[in-house]
This record gives sequence, C-alpha cells and structure tokens, in this order.
Amino acid sequence: GALLTVYLGVVIAALVLVNKVGVRAWTAARAAWAEQMGFLEERFAGTEDIRGIGAEQHQQRRLAGLMLNLLRSARAGWLANALGHVVSNFLFIVGYAMGLAIGATLYLNGQATIGTAFMIVAYIGMLATPIDALHDIAEQLQQATAGVNRVSELLALRPRARDEGRAELPAGPLSVQFDGVSFAYRDEDTPAADATESDSLILREVSFMLAPGRTLGVLGRTGSGKTTLTRLLLRLYDADSGAIRLGGTEIRAVPFERLRARVGLVTQDVQLFGATLRENITLFDETVPDAAIEDALDKLGILDWARGLPQGLDTLLEPGGGGMSAGEAQLLAFARILLRDPGLVILDEAASRLDPLTERRLERAIEHLLGDDGRRRTAIVIAHRLRTVQAADDILILEGGEVAEFGPHAALAADPESRFNRLLRAGLEEALA
Ligand code: ATP
Ligand code: MG
Repeated sequence: GALLTVYLGVVIAALVLVNKVGVRAWTAARAAWAEQMGFLEERFAGTEDIRGIGAEQHQQRRLAGLMLNLLRSARAGWLANALGHVVSNFLFIVGYAMGLAIGATLYLNGQATIGTAFMIVAYIGMLATPIDALHDIAEQLQQATAGVNRVSELLALRPRARDEGRAELPAGPLSVQFDGVSFAYRDEDTPAADATESDSLILREVSFMLAPGRTLGVLGRTGSGKTTLTRLLLRLYDADSGAIRLGGTEIRAVPFERLRARVGLVTQDVQLFGATLRENITLFDETVPDAAIEDALDKLGILDWARGLPQGLDTLLEPGGGGMSAGEAQLLAFARILLRDPGLVILDEAASRLDPLTERRLERAIEHLLGDDGRRRTAIVIAHRLRTVQAADDILILEGGEVAEFGPHAALAADPESRFNRLLRAGLEEALA
C-alpha cells in the first residue's frame, strides 16, 4: 500500500510538471488566436481601402504569418498534451514492471503465494483507470487555465482615468475653462512626469475660458491637437497637468455617466452600427419614444428623408455606415445629441469636403443643435472650413498644441495684426490644408 501511494505521488507530480508546460503553450496559442482574429476584423472593416490600393497580396501574406504563428503555438500545446500521455503511460508501464518484479521475487523466495503475487500486479492495474482520468482532466485544465490567465490579464487592465467623482454639473448651458492643461499620449509604462518633460506633449499649457451659451470656433493645422482637446473634455483621457472645469466644476470630480450625459460629442468619423435607424439614433435605448426621435429629425431637416426610407425608422443600416453618405451620418449623430439635450456640444468637423447642398443642410442642422428658442447651448466647433467658424462667438487657434490666439470673433477679425485675420485673408481652406 505504501509503495503504491509513493508511486501515485510520483505520477501526479509528473503530470503537474507537464501541465505547467502545457498551460504556457496554450496561453501563447490563445494570444496568437486573438491576434489573428483582431487582424481579420480590422482588415474586413478596411476591405475597400485595401482593395483600392491593391494590397490584398500583402495582407494575405501577413495573415499567413499570423496563422503560422498560431499553428506553431497550438502545436506546442498539443505536443504538451501528448507529452502528458507519454509520461503517464510510461510511468504506468514502469509501475507494472515493478509490480511484476516484486511479485515474482516474493513468490520465487517462497514469501508469497502465486495468488498474492498476482494480486500485487492486479492492484497496479486498478490504478490505470484513475490515472488516465487524471490525465484527461489535466489536459482540459491546461486549456481552461490558459483561458483564465488571458481573461485575468484583461480584467487587470485599469483605465488611467478613474471614475471616482461624486460632484454634479449645473443645469443649463455649461461654461468651459481650461487652466494650464498639458497632455501627452503615452503607453502604460511611461510615468506622467517623463511624458510631461519630453517633447511628446500634444497639448501645452492650454488655457482659455468660454462663457455659457457661447460658441467657440477652434482652428488649427492637422495634428495640432484639436481632437485631443475634445477627448480630454469627455475624460476619454485625463490631462497630465492643469485643470478643466465645466460650469465651474472640475471634471475629475464628476462621475463619467453624468459628465458624458451633459456633453454631446460628434466625432470626425461617426460610427454607425449594423442595426435599425431608430437604434442608431437612440443608441439602443428602448425608452425613447418615436415622437421624440421624429421631433429631433424634423429639427435637423431630415424627417422626410427618414420617412422616405423603405422601412422608415426600422430600416436596417449597414455596419460601419455603408449605404450612408458622410453628411447623412453626421446628421444622424446630431440627432443622437439632440435627444440627450446636453449643456455642451462639441462638433469635430470632418475634414472631407461636402457638396454645397449637404453643407447647407448641415449648417441649418448645426443651428438647431446649438440651441433654439433663445436658449443657446455652449458649443465647441472644430472647423476645417471658413463658413463653419463664421457663426462662432469666440475663436481659438491651436498651433503645435499651444494656444496661438484666443479672443472674441469680432475683435480678432477686426484686428489686422491677428492670426485669425491673416487666415481670413489667406482663405482658411488653403491656410489650414
Ligand atoms: P485633424 O485636423 O487632422 O483632425 P487634430 O488637430 O484633431 O488634427 P489630434 O487628433 O488631436 O489632431 O492629434 C494631435 C497629435 O496627437 C497628432 O500628432 C497625432 O499623431 C497624435 N495622436 C492622436 N491620437 C493619438 C492616440 N490615440 N495615441 C497617440 N497619439 C495620438
Ligand atoms: Mg481631429
């Protein structure tokens, strides 16, 4: 009995060792699998661009590389499983041999009957089924442990912006204040101090104050940090230094949910989902009544267009906005915001040019979005076209992440020395291109 127990201990220890190797291999295989899936998803979304520049071959070669990687790591996993098989079978044979040897020796020395010798061997044989079962379980455990490892890695990721505030934002239009805000995009391991010291700063000491109900036109060359500014306002990232206040409240003190309910953002490229028109506007909130949706569409001047669709609000849109023009997608994004009635609206104008008809439609829609009935919302409009800034009360010009100029529209336009004036004279489109 003691011998058999020791023997079983050796078998289990060997299986545990093999298991460790297996878990490592399967974790790598899972990662390779995820990488391949991510690659496929991204390439399918970009099919048009890939075909457009004739990069199919290149993408296929990269996919082949990823598949090879997956094959190698999965093969290592299966090899670890096979190793488990070999080890447990080998130990079993060793056990049999030992049992036979002991039984034979005892019998030949006259210390045991043939029955006892046979029994020793038979007992070892009885261990075969449980050892096999243990090995099977170990195999499943390897893959499961690898899966759990990957999930724990993901769950351990923490966003740098923490949702810990409890403060409220005031009702009505919100004032916006940037107070010496600096920011750099950095990866997980770079400490804030390093990023702030290096010249990787995307925003440098940005300060300005926008009174409630006013519209700010933001201008700047491509890459000057305009979109980044809007991301900080929604706390998609936190500033590295300085403070941002909405309605006088520091935004870090406001819970994400309340902040994002009061700030409406239309991004440069609007995301549409493979769902109905209604769901795309309400963002899957079923409590929004159709009357409210139609009211919003009416204000934006696209109610007739929506009614003209084959199934009205129930028309299925293609994922990624297929079958929708850029202008129409923008108008749908406006409708999303109108429904939520925010205190600050941010429009990040698409850099692409629209046809004059859509442009006029958008302009009228923007007017409605920024407020009606004498109740204006505060707005930040990032403009790539002159017409868009013409309605702005204040103008902010960003240059390389720094505020190059900030002031009331009329004053800057009248001052012949101002950058804004120069931009106007040079023709904004050409100057910002
Ligand atoms: P555009 O007029 O083309 O929209 P922009 O003024 O909005 O330009 P931003 O998108 O704010 O420019 O980008 C500012 C800089 O930050 C760019 O140099 C860009 O490469 C960098 N950047 C933007 N987003 C990221 C990101 N997620 N990670 C790292 N760097 C980024
Ligand atoms: Mg941008």
